[in-house]
Amino acid sequence: MENQQPRNQNLSRDEAAERARILSVDSYEVDLDLTGAPDPAVTGYRSRTRIALTAHVAGEETFLDFIHGGVASVVHNGKPLDTAAAVRGSRIHFTPEAGHNILEVDATALYSTSGEGMHRFVDPVDGQTYLYPQYEPADARRVFANFEQPDLKAPFTFTVTAPAHWHVASNQSVAEHSEHENDTATSVFAPTLPISTYITTILAGPYHYVTDSWQRRLEDGSTLTVPLGLSCRASLAENFDADALFSTTRQGLDFFHDLFDYPYPWGKYDQAFVPEYNLGAMENPGLVTFTENYVFTSRATESQYEGRANTIMHEMAHMWFGDLVTMRWWDDLWLKESFADFIGTLAVAEATDFDTAWVTFANRRKAWAYVQDQLPTTHPIVADIPDLEAARQNFDGITYAKGASVLKQLDAYVGREAFVSAARTYFRRHEYGNTTLADFLAVLGEASGRDMGAWSEAWLRTAGVGSLKVEFSEHDGDVTSAVIVQEGVDPTTGSPAIRPHTLGLGTFELRGGVLERTGGFRLDVIGARTEVPELVGRPRPAVVLPNDGDLTYAKVRFDEATLEVLLEHLGSLTEPLARATAWAALWSMVRDAVLPAPVFLTAVRRHVATITDVGVLSTILGQAETAVQRYCPPNVRDAEHRELARALHDFLLAAEPGSDAQLAFARALAELARAGELDHVVAGLLDGSVAVEGLIVDEQLRWALLQAGAARGHITTSTLEAERQANPSAVATVGQALAWAARPEAQVKQAAFDAALSGTDAEGAVLSNDVLSATVNGFLIGSHELLDGYYERYWPVLADIWETMSIGLATRIVQGLFPLDQDLGTEAPEQHRVVRGADAWLTEHDQAPRALRRIIIEQRDQLVRTLRGQAAVNTSRA
Ligand SMILES: [Zn+2]
Repeated sequence: MENQQPRNQNLSRDEAAERARILSVDSYEVDLDLTGAPDPAVTGYRSRTRIALTAHVAGEETFLDFIHGGVASVVHNGKPLDTAAAVRGSRIHFTPEAGHNILEVDATALYSTSGEGMHRFVDPVDGQTYLYPQYEPADARRVFANFEQPDLKAPFTFTVTAPAHWHVASNQSVAEHSEHENDTATSVFAPTLPISTYITTILAGPYHYVTDSWQRRLEDGSTLTVPLGLSCRASLAENFDADALFSTTRQGLDFFHDLFDYPYPWGKYDQAFVPEYNLGAMENPGLVTFTENYVFTSRATESQYEGRANTIMHEMAHMWFGDLVTMRWWDDLWLKESFADFIGTLAVAEATDFDTAWVTFANRRKAWAYVQDQLPTTHPIVADIPDLEAARQNFDGITYAKGASVLKQLDAYVGREAFVSAARTYFRRHEYGNTTLADFLAVLGEASGRDMGAWSEAWLRTAGVGSLKVEFSEHDGDVTSAVIVQEGVDPTTGSPAIRPHTLGLGTFELRGGVLERTGGFRLDVIGARTEVPELVGRPRPAVVLPNDGDLTYAKVRFDEATLEVLLEHLGSLTEPLARATAWAALWSMVRDAVLPAPVFLTAVRRHVATITDVGVLSTILGQAETAVQRYCPPNVRDAEHRELARALHDFLLAAEPGSDAQLAFARALAELARAGELDHVVAGLLDGSVAVEGLIVDEQLRWALLQAGAARGHITTSTLEAERQANPSAVATVGQALAWAARPEAQVKQAAFDAALSGTDAEGAVLSNDVLSATVNGFLIGSHELLDGYYERYWPVLADIWETMSIGLATRIVQGLFPLDQDLGTEAPEQHRVVRGADAWLTEHDQAPRALRRIIIEQRDQLVRTLRGQAAVNTSRA
């Protein structure tokens, strides 16, 4: 039996298609014995799977997927197989007989600390053990033997044996429960409807569990009752605002029933908040799992509550888009993620009290898409995903945010009625099945009466983000011609990518120093140049805002006059969506090296305090910090840092006591303080000698300040340890790890770097996913003097890390340690030492796994982009 970290094992699209040709699965019975979990010396658990399948062809060898800690037996149609021959790596080979087959696997699966497979977490507050799994795209095979591909759907029956006092849950309700003499109990869950492996789930531990229910009269006169449940760790129970969560849940269920006209099919609806989660949430039907960061133990802003509601709605949309109808393979991941992202935001906007959902979408979600879509690794929304490693990396800004942005454009293009009607047909036609792009286009074509072929080619099959700009000609103070100029190139092919847009244009005038809307209209932009007759024959407006209403997906480029007015008067623009769109465009210009960072920073200092949406405010403050650290060359950075620090301090003191804005300024200040200028404020807030009216230094803020103090060398290891021991919690564990690694001492950096590369601490204990990332993030805070020596050690170990660690942990290390904070010297950006290091590695490792190369290519591109931004500052000052 081996207890090492199971290695990454790939599975190709071709292999999956081949397997689906050979067989279909009739049912799974999975039996897990988790009774040993509380003992840290127990590394694995018994996992038994019984699979009934039908072979469509006989005599062709195929395989089960299983990343395991030892297989005791494999029985095929009653006959034991020779495991030495059948079990090869993470595959179990067998040759089906014609027709009905039964496979039985009895094995050991391993607990995980990486968030992949069955994650085990020990609560630092009370020592209790918690388990939950995470599978997508392909880690169910870390828990039980199966055919790990989305189109081999089957009903699953789970049986779980665990300590008797634990809350044990799965996709379905418990059908039978029996207690045993040794304080353990066995729960047998009802069979699920046909679902894919990646959305099966188990929850086991002394979770705090709260219940409620939701009802709905259906069209046939019957009543649909959905039992609701919420769970979190017991030690978080006092912070668990179950009423608010149930309320959002009910709003969502009402909304989706009205919208989709297809009754919720999965029986109950549980939502579990779990520790050290690698993602925001996962849409397991009947038991959605969320990061417990959504159980707010420190004060949360309105924006954080809105973000949580958005995730709740996103996952609920998946109950239909993704769970009921599932993509055939990961190429069409967008068929669920883009829809969930768009419709989840729609649900927040239309079914809850949060009124800034589309503002957040425009300013934050789209920013993610624009960043990703300008990387050399971008791809069309409908992606080419040849294998699981590629699938794992496709949960990106294209699949989610760009896809959702394009669906928002589609909604404007075909109209809501056609969009909704297409969705309804799609669910009825493909329920419990698998689909591809063609299936969606078919229902959309039927509903809209339009041929969607050209639209989908332009939007779904090409990559890259185009730009839109209005060009004016004037005579005697009047506009004689106004043209929307569209530019765009698909970076993956080099071909022009000009798209059809349903676009809003907004016009604003300065009145008494205040920007006021004077008009707005929609138009269809078809080609590279589109006339705008509405703007002709009158004076040019002070501000013309392309993509007013944020209907389409494109970079906005302001005309020069508009830019000048915005930089001067943006603070007086009070319309939230227009304001957020304008700020997003300015940041995009910094990233494209067409707006020098100091100009952006001046605008931030002048106008940011007038922003009323805390989500947008926090985003811009984060961008400002990035602008200082990465887009300012070293010769101006200190001055810009000082100015921003002073401004943040002023804003903090001037903010309304107890407001979200005050908290946002305090958090941004703690972040910026890691690089200096604010030591006295940090120390004062920590020891109470500086008090800001209405500001409570709670757990989260306290750790942020401690990290800043540690990064400046003012907080000792023993102080950090005492802080954690005074209030042990998951937040404190991670907070301490980051603060420790941030300390500006050579031996600390050495130890942190070693810990990051090995994934273990000095005593050899395995670092969990969150502690590993905290260590990496802490390590990277520091001067070039402290850190530069490590670049040479980074490149040679990448391939080995990828080979030996799980893909989740390897990604955290490889991506996290890439040295993005660099100074442009006299060389060209492409000649910078770190860029050349990346180039050399890429040349030497042209056969490295595509997923690993993708990380390096993307980080290199991000670095070059910041260096170009620094060069633009130098040019503007020359
Ligand atoms: Zn999703």
